[in-house]
Amino acid sequence: MLCPDLHWQRQSPEQNTLETDVQVHADAVRASWSVSDEKLEALRKATQEDVTLQTALEYTRSGWPQYKEDVKLAAREFYSVKDELSDHDGLLVRGSRIVIPFSHRKDILGKIHDGHQGIQKCRERANQCVWWSGMGQEIKEMVGRCRHCLESKPTQRKEPLITSKLPEYPFQKVGVDLLAFRGENYLSYVDYYSRFIEIEQLSRETAEEVIGKLKDLFSRHGVPEIVVSDNGTQFTSEKFQDFRHSWGFTHVTSSPRYPQSNGEAERSVQTSKTILKQSDVALALLSYRATPIPSLGASPAELAFGRQLRTRPPSLPKSLIPQTPVAKDFKERDRQAKQQQKENNDRRHGVQSLPILKPGETTVKIKIDGKDGWRQSGRVVEQCAIRSYMVQTPTGILRRNRRHLRRASTGEEVQIPKFPAAGDSGGAETVEELELPDPPDVKTVPVCTRSGREVKLPLRFQ
Ligand SMILES: [Zn+2]
Repeated sequence: MLCPDLHWQRQSPEQNTLETDVQVHADAVRASWSVSDEKLEALRKATQEDVTLQTALEYTRSGWPQYKEDVKLAAREFYSVKDELSDHDGLLVRGSRIVIPFSHRKDILGKIHDGHQGIQKCRERANQCVWWSGMGQEIKEMVGRCRHCLESKPTQRKEPLITSKLPEYPFQKVGVDLLAFRGENYLSYVDYYSRFIEIEQLSRETAEEVIGKLKDLFSRHGVPEIVVSDNGTQFTSEKFQDFRHSWGFTHVTSSPRYPQSNGEAERSVQTSKTILKQSDVALALLSYRATPIPSLGASPAELAFGRQLRTRPPSLPKSLIPQTPVAKDFKERDRQAKQQQKENNDRRHGVQSLPILKPGETTVKIKIDGKDGWRQSGRVVEQCAIRSYMVQTPTGILRRNRRHLRRASTGEEVQIPKFPAAGDSGGAETVEELELPDPPDVKTVPVCTRSGREVKLPLRFQ
């Protein structure tokens, strides 16, 4: 590897003539280069064949003109550093760095990038031993084109949380998700207005089973206007689409591979799992529904039905009589709670907003959380929701969250698929996140990790 050490000794003034000085300096520089004689000889030969470097060497030996305009065009790029140049047995040297002839630059660039360090590190490495005019820029371009580096770029940071608008009334908008727990499958159903949760056990994981459970839920709470789910096959099936049409609701899906954007349903899954872990699931569910959400000042039951649920601790009959919750106050509390949650989230994740991608022109690389590599390439067909895009890839059209797309760099290898006619993208809408309260406050059975270790629950769960 061509990389001399920088630490040679400067000569003290009393060490005589300029000539000796130069010679000592040159020897010190040479001694510090960990370059084989063979390699140096090759560089020397290439320098002789490099018109630009030869011109600069001639000036370095015989003295540079005073004005830049008087320097031959070939060597003008060296004018600003002329005082640092020296001739070392036919090699042009700037300070302690070998000036690399044009024919060797590509090879040297490759070596500088050994180990696939980033642009800054490569520049620092190069600055220790070699130089040519425009080297910094060439390093930047080389790293920017490196396939390995492009594919192994880290996942983009999370974007700021989008806070959701509170629906107008209970069970207007609901989130649905499937979850597996201790070998059983469940459907979790959450109301975006009240955070009221329903958990239904499924005997099978089919679309029919899911539709049957949803019909039960609709019969209890009314048909929602909007149902949010992920892209599970039960929800994308033809049967589900038929169900949607005949019962008259809008179906919104989250980006595949990006369930975070189905935040409400995802969080209700977490809450549901906490409830399912408890020794008496029904009691846990009742407790959750009857417990006020601190930031909202009312319980899911109060918000959903306008009355408190009778639980085991004694309560005044008055509190069980239906009354309209103070909707205005609740809406303001909801807004504040979501704002607070957004600030916490954005701070915690060090979020960054990603620029919007334009359909048609933008060639992108695609990466998925948990998988390595920005391998797949595609072209943006259209934006189908906030931060969600339909992308044409060589194997078909995919929907992806903005965080899993990045613009392809100039010169980056991409397989550009044929641009299709604007197809049906499903007419999806914005998917938003919402806060769910803490899990219920009831007695629990011991919770174990996979390795069998018992997990100590926080005091409020005990
Ligand atoms: Zn690289």
